Amino acid sequence: MRKLISAACCCVMLSVSAQNTSIDVTHYGLKIHLNDTSNRISVTEQIEFSWIDTSQLVQFDLESTQSNGKGMLVSSVFDQSKSISYKQVGELLILDDLKAAGRKQISLVINYAGIPSDGLVISANKYGERTFFGDNWPNRAHLWFACNDHPSDKATISYSVTAPKYYEVIANGEQLNRIDINEHEATTSFSSNIVLPTKVMVIGVANFDSKKVANPLSPIEISSWVYPQNSEKSFYDLELAKDIFNYYISWIGPYEYEKLANVQSTTRFGGMENAGCIFYDENAFNGRRTSESLIAHEIAHQWFGNSASESDWQHIWLSEGFATYFTDLYLEQKYGTERMQKQLAKERAEVIQFYRQYPHPIVDSTYENLMDLLNENSYQKGAWVLHMLRNRIGDELFHQSIVAYYEKFRLSNATSQDFIQVVQEVTQQDLSVFFNEWLFQSGHPQLKIGKKIKGKSIKLSIQQVQKERFTDIPITVELSFEDGSKVQEQFKLTGKTNVYNFKYSKKISQILIDPNVQLLFEEK
Ligand SMILES: [Zn+2]
Repeated sequence: MRKLISAACCCVMLSVSAQNTSIDVTHYGLKIHLNDTSNRISVTEQIEFSWIDTSQLVQFDLESTQSNGKGMLVSSVFDQSKSISYKQVGELLILDDLKAAGRKQISLVINYAGIPSDGLVISANKYGERTFFGDNWPNRAHLWFACNDHPSDKATISYSVTAPKYYEVIANGEQLNRIDINEHEATTSFSSNIVLPTKVMVIGVANFDSKKVANPLSPIEISSWVYPQNSEKSFYDLELAKDIFNYYISWIGPYEYEKLANVQSTTRFGGMENAGCIFYDENAFNGRRTSESLIAHEIAHQWFGNSASESDWQHIWLSEGFATYFTDLYLEQKYGTERMQKQLAKERAEVIQFYRQYPHPIVDSTYENLMDLLNENSYQKGAWVLHMLRNRIGDELFHQSIVAYYEKFRLSNATSQDFIQVVQEVTQQDLSVFFNEWLFQSGHPQLKIGKKIKGKSIKLSIQQVQKERFTDIPITVELSFEDGSKVQEQFKLTGKTNVYNFKYSKKISQILIDPNVQLLFEEK
């Protein structure tokens, strides 16, 4: 996702709950009833799972009723049509009477109702119209449905949403049907046969205009779902999705989901990459296509984050760093190298600035609030690691490495180590020092650079003054001569102090460090 600068973080503290590995959910079937007289929803949920560790009680994440009256109150749980006992404790639904009895797969039906405290956001949009939008990242799905709310437990999902007839309904997966069930209400059903992490499982219910985006290059339907009040401008902006989508398919590999819907919404983020059903901030579209990089970022997540997902939160750069760098690659391909370099220079400045307030590594397990992971290390620095990797191993091996990583971990989960292993296998290079220095330690090279030009020769002395150790820093300098010609010199900084002498046949007029924007460093 992308943060919204003005309203960056929500007020809720999203603490880190322990990963529940004793079960593996395979399918959620949600029948949801929405109405316009209150924000109370009622849900009948079928949940199918494997009970992996039967020494542990089965429990699902589901927020119970709070003192403010919000939360979900379970009224019954059925196991094979038999009512079983349960208890709700805080954010857990504990099934203390469930018996495994040799079954591999268990299917339960859970009935509950309540006003979601968050996760399914029921509010007026910017035109004052009532809307319902799922907004689960990172672990807010369990505030509106019972689940194993962790990116490592992926499952298929189906929805049957009953709502007043005048709403349109959108969700992950393929729309199966829409049936009028009485004079006032209709039920719209969707099914995603592709496994998804809970963070990107959503419904959106609102007054929408929708339009298909023609794409002769793919049978996957791309559509735009926008508020009717500014639909023409939003449709125009969202047509950009087609070229972005086609570019990623050609670069990374096939798109996994049944469709790609781009939806105007009330999400608290600038954009949220919900699988095949991306939600954008309601102010993102203006008819001037100013959200091109936002759209490129969210579409990149369909591969990185949604399909190849981080196995735990500290590896979030595999999602956000990748989406950030794939946006840079898209901009490079569309507008040229200079545009990408401009973007990377901006991202570098943001990383340096962030380091001053938060000197932690990219892979950081010290966070207390998951929202804190939406930071410049996960996004910009993660992108810079990919950029430096590309410069180190070359475009061809970089491409092969990313494609191999994606192919291996598509519809699955990966750690940073999994990514490193794939890159080392593809390149047949030991890159452990590179990754250790850039992913697992904080900081970046801070260089004190002395430049002494004497006619046709130059003495460069480069001192590393940061406290962290960087042992292998490739650096390029560009020398300009009085006759207007230029030359680039490449070398490696290996020690704390490095001295280089260059001699030419022409008089040197100027020197530029890192002219191609290839190194994450700071000049002191
Ligand atoms: Zn993102």
